[in-house]
Amino acid sequence: MYKGIWMHPWDFDRDVIAELSKFGFTHISLAVRYIEERQNWPGPNIIFQNFQRRTYTSEENAVYWNVEKNRYLNIPPYLRPVQSQEIQGDVVGEFVRACEENSIRSVLWFPTLRWEKAVRDNPLIGVVDIYGSHPSYKRMFLCPSNPSVKEALSTMVEELSEKYEFDEFEFDFIRYPEIPTTYSTPLLDLALSPCFCKYCRDEAADYGINLEEVRGVLKDIVEWHVQYFLRLQEYCTDLDYCEAMYLDFTKELLENDILKKWLEFRENQISKLLLQLSKIIKRNNPKAEISADLYPPSGSWLLGQNYKKISKIVDRIKIMIYVRPFKRSICRIPYEAMLARKFVKNNVEIVLGLASWPPTTPEDIERQFNMALKLPVNGVSFYSYGWTPKGNLLKIKELFEEVKV
Ligand SMILES: [Zn+2]
Repeated sequence: MYKGIWMHPWDFDRDVIAELSKFGFTHISLAVRYIEERQNWPGPNIIFQNFQRRTYTSEENAVYWNVEKNRYLNIPPYLRPVQSQEIQGDVVGEFVRACEENSIRSVLWFPTLRWEKAVRDNPLIGVVDIYGSHPSYKRMFLCPSNPSVKEALSTMVEELSEKYEFDEFEFDFIRYPEIPTTYSTPLLDLALSPCFCKYCRDEAADYGINLEEVRGVLKDIVEWHVQYFLRLQEYCTDLDYCEAMYLDFTKELLENDILKKWLEFRENQISKLLLQLSKIIKRNNPKAEISADLYPPSGSWLLGQNYKKISKIVDRIKIMIYVRPFKRSICRIPYEAMLARKFVKNNVEIVLGLASWPPTTPEDIERQFNMALKLPVNGVSFYSYGWTPKGNLLKIKELFEEVKV
């Protein structure tokens, strides 16, 4: 059984790896570069496992290995990796060694297309919607069609896979961004989704799609909503109303071939990038396994993640289903796991990414873990080491001990 946990570089310590090995963990994922994030969020904002650093907001753009600057001379400056100012040294190298010494599998966790600082420095490398605007706060996401983006990511993956003998390489944020709306409709969210940059326009043309035609269809949807919201007297979240919106959304997608083809094109762009980067790893470190952190399959297709296509590239899929902190239903766990198994071949592992931070309690962890044991999945991984209070960590240890394999 895969028994994993995610770890941030500021919580890494050789002794911690030894301790987690005794707790029964088989895999640890260390972030090798990281996004801007308050630790922990949403939550009490306390790093339970870090006595030196109980609070921390990570740097906007930092990597945690000794960067060989010469490799990046042809890459535009805003896309070059910058070594962390706050967490110094070759954390990645120390981590891989510590895992090896403790017979634990080392996983290099790589946030792929989310990179705030680079997009702020040059908005032209980010995704844009039908109006040319970046769809998320803080200009978070790079465009997977942009040649400079592909080149920069490939060079980083090349450097990491040449230098380190890790056991698994894990792609995170390999998707388009969510649309940050509230009181919206599923169709409006789709209409505000990216990307309409010039590189996407060209690659879409090669795929047989006229992106200007797609833009026209989406603009009509937005204009319909402008009229709708003008007449709407109050914003509604009734279950009955939401079901009606999803039925309308389903009908639109069934009948609209332009939208279907566009969604398929976006899935293709994400899979192509994942394949390109995975090939570099397999060439340099053939024993390493490849994994991807994915949105739950019921909605992943809206962000460019196609489970069938991705499972042809990777050895393992991790489904992120954080229940309590995001007020999601626990019923999502069996539903999404069974759905994923329907799309993913049996030789590809499925691991459930579960939350272990407050308000998640030891009882929640036990319930979710026991649920996982009954599902067609290969294990679990908890997010994240630093955010997990001692009581929750001890509960995980106890549950792992009960499952000997
Ligand atoms: Zn684009």
